Amino acid sequence: ANGQTGLLPPPKGLVAPINVPQKLLMGPGPTNVSPRVQQASGLQLIGHMHAETFQIMDEIKAGMQYAFQTKNQWTLVISGPGHLGMEAVLVNLLEPGDKVLIGVNGLWGKRAVDLANRLGASPLALEQEAGKSLSLDEIEQGLSKHKPKVLFLVHSESSTGVMQPLVGVGDLCRKYDCLLVVDTVASLGGVPFFMDDWKIDAVYTGSQKVIGAPPGLAPISFGPRAVEAIKSRKSPVKSYLLNMNELTIQWQCGDPSIPRIYHHTPPVNLFYALREALAELTEEGLENVWKRHAEASARLHAGIRSLGLKLFVQNESDRLPTVTTILVPEGIDWKKVIQYLMEKHKIEIAGGLGPTVGKVFRIGVLGCNATPEKVDRVLQALKEGLEFAKLQGH
Ligand code: PMP
Repeated sequence: ANGQTGLLPPPKGLVAPINVPQKLLMGPGPTNVSPRVQQASGLQLIGHMHAETFQIMDEIKAGMQYAFQTKNQWTLVISGPGHLGMEAVLVNLLEPGDKVLIGVNGLWGKRAVDLANRLGASPLALEQEAGKSLSLDEIEQGLSKHKPKVLFLVHSESSTGVMQPLVGVGDLCRKYDCLLVVDTVASLGGVPFFMDDWKIDAVYTGSQKVIGAPPGLAPISFGPRAVEAIKSRKSPVKSYLLNMNELTIQWQCGDPSIPRIYHHTPPVNLFYALREALAELTEEGLENVWKRHAEASARLHAGIRSLGLKLFVQNESDRLPTVTTILVPEGIDWKKVIQYLMEKHKIEIAGGLGPTVGKVFRIGVLGCNATPEKVDRVLQALKEGLEFAKLQGH
């Protein structure tokens, strides 16, 4: 009578209990969350326009200003993964035809070129070999040759394990009247970063890496020069969800007497988790968190060397402490090693990504997993995994 031919059967899998085993996440992210963060994400929902949620949003804003080391009022959170942070900076700062110079030494720079193209901007790649960072000289040459509106750099190229030095880049960008945008998804909290002192105009990160919350949120910050560029656009921002002119009102980033206006329904339970992760970061202290990550990374590198393995990044000062790339030894099937760690130890490590596929293992020491005990566990499992793969190879 309703025009139906019959009811589709209920899915059988949903009658069984959910399967979420305990795993140690030592890849480039996400990382495990602390018990406090885990508990917070399970709290009952309240509304996104309730006073208590606004307070949590204000606390997140303050926590992110601390983590980014910025006084920027436009410091808020995008409801989405790191990629959406990338989309947000580009869609707000670029108009059709605008030149954006992008440091490309791995997958993430390439991704930014792709997004800029989709927006109708004119991306120019400042290329560098995978495994190396760009020098100040190379950056200056690119700026003086192309005179871009925006320079986009990846602080933490997690596909290759390279950290891009940023000291001095902000001054160059001012000299060439260009905005400096930085992707810190895989580094923020794990290494020193000073948004204001380094004169960075826009930055974003991800919730699931060093910060240690679940994936799904991208903290972001725009400095005064970037805000000015957004406010003086000739064309409207080509995204509703990512339009900072409106989203900053829900986050009350401007005059506190202007009431918040509903823009979209954000994942409030992820806000709880991020708030607690930032509370833990604040309690431990940013400098202590940086130190803990540096120590965990040094311990990992020493362990890698004592296993007779080699790091992919040759220049020590280019090595990203949070994500380490290790050359896959000759004759070893990298997939077997990764599979062994997961099957025998429930430990996740990753293979290469983009230019490093098939060439490296990637091990992350992020957030609450940046400890000597977790590093030793992954090293022991890696040793066994390599022995297993060697036997299989013969
Ligand atoms: N940029 C960098 C440097 C990253 O490491 C990642 C995630 N691996 C991203 C962007 C994208 O983040 P997400 O997966 O959360 O979209």
